[in-house]
Amino acid sequence: MATFCIAHLYPDLMNLYGDRGNLICLQKRLQWYGHDCLVQPVNLSSEVDYSTFDMIFMGGGSDREQGLVYRDLLRRADQLWKQLDAGLPALFICGAYQLLGTHYESADGKQLKGLGFFNLCTRSEKERLIGNIVLACRINQQIITVVGFENHGGRTYLEDKSLEPFGMVLAGFGNNGEDGQEGVRYKNLIGTYLHGPLLPKNPAVADYFIHMMAARKGIEITGTLNDRLEDFAHQQIKRRILGS
Ligand code: GLN
Repeated sequence: MATFCIAHLYPDLMNLYGDRGNLICLQKRLQWYGHDCLVQPVNLSSEVDYSTFDMIFMGGGSDREQGLVYRDLLRRADQLWKQLDAGLPALFICGAYQLLGTHYESADGKQLKGLGFFNLCTRSEKERLIGNIVLACRINQQIITVVGFENHGGRTYLEDKSLEPFGMVLAGFGNNGEDGQEGVRYKNLIGTYLHGPLLPKNPAVADYFIHMMAARKGIEITGTLNDRLEDFAHQQIKRRILGS
C-alpha cells in the first residue's frame, strides 16, 4: 500500500460548484485500489515545496478570489513550473485554469497578470457562458466523451497554436464559444472550464490521473473498479445534452 499526497491550492478561496468533489473522487478511488491518499491544503502564504506532492489541484474562483491568490502563486511560480514541466499531474479548473495564461482581463477592463506558463489569455465579457457541456477528449490514446458544467464570463484563447486543448466541444461553449476548443493540456496537466465536478462523472479522467501519479512513484495500480453507476450517470447526462 502506498500513500499519495495531493496539494489542494487555496481551498477556502478557490472552490466553486463542488470542485472539491474531484479530490474526494481521487481519494476514494485510490482507497478502493488499496492505497491511501492525503490531501494537503495550501493557503495564502503557506510555505510549500511542490516537489513533495504527487498531484496539484486548484478549483475555480470568482474574479475577486483570483485577485487574492494570483500574487501568492506568482511568488513561487518558478518552483511550480519546474514540477509541472517535469510531469507532475495537475488539474486546474476555471478561474485556476485562467491564471495559467499570460493575463486575465475582467469585464471592466482591469488586467490581472497570470503565471505565464502558457501563451493563452482570457478576456471577460458581461454575458456569461453557462450550461452543461460535452467534450471529445483523447485519454490514453482513446477518444472518449467528457461531461461537465461550465459557468464563466472569461473567454480564453490559446494564442500559441501549438498548445493542445483538453478536448473539442460537442455541446456547450468551451474556451470561448467560438473555436470549438476546451481547456489546455500539457504533459500531465489539464486546465479546463469543467466544474460539476469533473472527475466523479468521468472516471476515465480520474484514473488517468491515478495512473500518472502511480507511474511517477514506480507503483502499478492493479485491479479494476466497478464504474457501473458512474458510467450510468455519464451516459444519462450525455444523452440529455446530445440527445443521442
Ligand atoms: N472569474 C472567472 C470567470 O467568470 C472564473 C469563474 C469560475 O471559476 N467559475 O470567467
